[in-house]
Amino acid sequence: MKVFVVNAGSSSLKYQLIDMDTNEVMCKGLCERIGIDGKLTHKSANGVLENEIPMPAHDAAIRAVLDALTDKTYGCISDLSEISAIGHRVVHGGEEYKSSTYITPEVMDFLDTLVALAPLHEPANITGIKACEAVMPGVPQVAVFDTAFHQTMPEEAYLYGVPYEYYEKYGVRRYGFHGTSHRFVAKRTAEILGKAENEVNIITCHLGNGSSLACIKDGKVIDTTMGLTPLEGMMMGTRCGNIDPAIVGFIGEKENLTYAQMDTLMNKKSGLLGVSGISSDFRDVEAAANEGNHRARVALDMFAYQVKKLIGGYVAALGGNVDAIVFTAGVGENSGNTRLGILKGLEGMGIVVDDASATVRGKEALISTEESKIKVYIVPTNEELMIALDAKEIVNAL
Ligand code: ADP
Repeated sequence: MKVFVVNAGSSSLKYQLIDMDTNEVMCKGLCERIGIDGKLTHKSANGVLENEIPMPAHDAAIRAVLDALTDKTYGCISDLSEISAIGHRVVHGGEEYKSSTYITPEVMDFLDTLVALAPLHEPANITGIKACEAVMPGVPQVAVFDTAFHQTMPEEAYLYGVPYEYYEKYGVRRYGFHGTSHRFVAKRTAEILGKAENEVNIITCHLGNGSSLACIKDGKVIDTTMGLTPLEGMMMGTRCGNIDPAIVGFIGEKENLTYAQMDTLMNKKSGLLGVSGISSDFRDVEAAANEGNHRARVALDMFAYQVKKLIGGYVAALGGNVDAIVFTAGVGENSGNTRLGILKGLEGMGIVVDDASATVRGKEALISTEESKIKVYIVPTNEELMIALDAKEIVNAL
């Protein structure tokens, strides 16, 4: 069985074709500048195909991808009928979807109601689904939600201390994101620990351009750091993360900014970029810090300190019974110094990280020492495979 995995953004679309007999990626790629002009970058065992193709909308992008998948040189299938299912990354499933779902017209109607909660991402995801339906009619489609894994949170974790009526009227609550990644690494960590998924207490740390932690008790999320939107939690590449909410009005008033401008400031101009003034990319900021740039150093120190405090909170939420802390995504998998910066000083909590692990990069590894009560792992994430596995399971059960 072959599953086509689609991650549609507003002007881009990432895809993979995965062979579910081996879980191997057969081809993958990216469409960019959809709605502007259009560029396809397609990677297969035979090399990279780069093409500028007009992509006025997502259906043209999907058509270009399908041509690439069946291309004589760069393709990996001879006929589109080999694709048995399509798995879509969908950012928001609201309170309705606690797991992945087969896409029906009713599901599509419901997704429209969630646009208000994810105005930038949800319309793009919906467009991606419609484009696949138009170009590959009849191929079953599955939605895999970023929010779904977090739907097990109890009320005390997901409610905010604002008037309850806004939860009832507008759905103002913590939803959490990166759920597919947290689920993938939690599942894999349970396997590594030799325990059933519903028997593990884990703190998963997805640290990338966007970052979030999930606190998992008996295999279920009981808390996560992102909230109503992906702005909450630790500071990130360009997002401010947790700040005093009064800062919004304070800076807005001083600088005479509209709320939309303030929103851009918090989402696109803050975090590592805003503090360092260098870049949103950890590698650039690490390089500048190593050359003695103070703001770059303090930005990295802030990030590590904030993640440390969030981990401490989750150890408390788990009553100290933690099987493992797991690092994943670009920074979590690759930046040994960031991991050490986060974990050093937590020895009193039973977390002893191996200094030599600073050089471990991009592969599954145990990075705590023998004396560490809580094990610490790196587990590379694979959201596309998780999406494909869900699509396979759901479509096979139809
Ligand atoms: P996204 O949220 O865009 O998927 P990723 O998970 O790919 O992000 O993470 C991107 C971040 O990972 C960037 O800030 C990048 O600098 C960082 N990163 C990748 N490789 C390394 C490395 N070797 N050392 C430090 N940081 C790294």
